[in-house]
Amino acid sequence: MEMNKNIEKWYELHTDEVNALSDDIWAHPEVGMQEHYAAKATAAFMRKYGFEVQELDAAMKGDEPNCVIAKWGSGKPVIGIIGELDALPGLGQEAVPYPSPKPGPGHGCGHNLMAAGCGAAACALKETMEAEGLKGTIVYLGCPAEETFEGKVHMIHNHLFDGIDVCLAWHPMGGAPKAVEICMNACTNMIISFKGRTAHAGGDPHNGRSALDAAELMNVGVQYLREHVTSDVRMHYIYLASGTAPNIVPDFASLNYFVRAQSAETCRDVVARVRKIAEGAAMMTETEVIFEQKAAAYDTMPNFTLNQAMYDSAIKIPEITYTEDEINFAKEVYRNATGKEADHDLLPTTIAPPTGTITSGGGSTDVGDVSYIIPTVQFFGHCRLTGCPSHHWSTTACTGMSIGHKAQIYSGKVLAQNAYDLLHHPEIIEKAWEEHRKNLEGRAPYHCWLDDID
Ligand SMILES: [Zn+2]
Ligand SMILES: [Zn+2]
Repeated sequence: MEMNKNIEKWYELHTDEVNALSDDIWAHPEVGMQEHYAAKATAAFMRKYGFEVQELDAAMKGDEPNCVIAKWGSGKPVIGIIGELDALPGLGQEAVPYPSPKPGPGHGCGHNLMAAGCGAAACALKETMEAEGLKGTIVYLGCPAEETFEGKVHMIHNHLFDGIDVCLAWHPMGGAPKAVEICMNACTNMIISFKGRTAHAGGDPHNGRSALDAAELMNVGVQYLREHVTSDVRMHYIYLASGTAPNIVPDFASLNYFVRAQSAETCRDVVARVRKIAEGAAMMTETEVIFEQKAAAYDTMPNFTLNQAMYDSAIKIPEITYTEDEINFAKEVYRNATGKEADHDLLPTTIAPPTGTITSGGGSTDVGDVSYIIPTVQFFGHCRLTGCPSHHWSTTACTGMSIGHKAQIYSGKVLAQNAYDLLHHPEIIEKAWEEHRKNLEGRAPYHCWLDDID
C-alpha cells in the first residue's frame, strides 16, 4: 500500500521543473484553440523526457499548433493521460490573495496545472516502466479548448484518441479529492445571428427591420420554453452584437447560446426547439436568421471499475501537507472572494472513497465525448478552495503559486500510480470495458457532431 519507489524518485528529481512549466503556462494564458505557447512549452517538456511528440492544430486546418500528442512505449495496454491547455477570458489575476486583475485571460480553472501535472505523470510512469521493464504504451494528450468543449471533439474527429484502451484525467476542485461520480451535462454551443435592415430610428423607422428585435423576441421565446423542458435542461446566452447606436435600427444582432441537458439526445431535442423559436422570431420581425454551431459535447459517463482502481491507487500517495503561509493565503482568498470567514477546511487532503452512486452535474466538458468511446476516469481535487467560486480570480491566484504546485504534484503521482497499477492488473481494464459496453447498451451509438460537417 505504498507509492511506487520509481515514481517517487522521479518526483524527487523533477518537481521543480514541473512547477516551472505550470508557472510558465500560467504566465502566458491563452484562450481556447489559441494555446500556441502552452502547446510549445508542454511539447518541449515531453520531448525532453524521451516522448515522441507531435505538435498539432487540433482542428487540422493547417493553423499554428494548439495540441500535443506525446507517445512512448509499445504494445498494449495503451494508457491515455489527458492534460488541458486553455485559460479563460478576462480572468487574468496576480498570484495574490486579493483581487488584483491583470488584463487578458487567466488560468481561473487551473488548466496550467493539468498541462504540466498530467504531463509529469506520463513522464514519471515512463521512467518507472523503463526501470522495471514493463510493456505498454503511454499517450499524453495536451488538449486545447476544454472550456468551450471543442478540443477533444476535434481530436476524436481527427482520430487522435484511436487505439487508447483507457483514459485518466485530473482536474483541480474544491471539496474532498475523489474519482468523479458525476454525470456532467451534455452541451451545445451555438451562435444565432439575425440580419435585418437599417433605417433612421426616428426619421423612417417603418423602413427598418430590427435584428435586435428578433434577438430579443427569441430570448423571450426561450424564457417561455423553460417551463416545458425537463429540469436538467439549462439554457443560457449572451449578446455578441446588438447594434451600434439607438438612433440606427440595428441590421445585425448576434447571440451566443449554450443549451445543456443530462443526455446528448435531450440536448439535441432542445436545440431543435430553440432553433424553431429563432426562426419564429425572424418571421415576426422580417429578418433572416443564421445558425452556426460552435461545439457540442456529450455528457460524461463515469466508470465504477476505474473509479475504484483510481481510489485504490490514490490512497498509496502520501497526503499533501500545507504550510501555515499557504493556509493563511487560502483563508485570505476565501475572505476576499466570499466576504466570510472560513469555518471549514478550505484545502481538504483526504480522499473520499467511491460511493457507487452517480449524481448529475450542471457543468459540461469535452471529456464527455472521450468517456463515450473509451473507459475514462477523472480524478477531481485540490487547489480550488472549498466554497470558493469556480472560473474566478481566486482560482487564478491559487493556480499560480505553491497551493497549485502541490496539487499538480500530488495528483500527477495519483495518475502515475494508477496507470502503473493498471499495467500490473490488465484485468481491471478488461472489466472497465465490460462496464463501458454495458453502459452503452440501449443508447444511440456515439456520434461526433463534426462528422456531419465534412
Ligand atoms: Zn473550467
Ligand atoms: Zn477546467
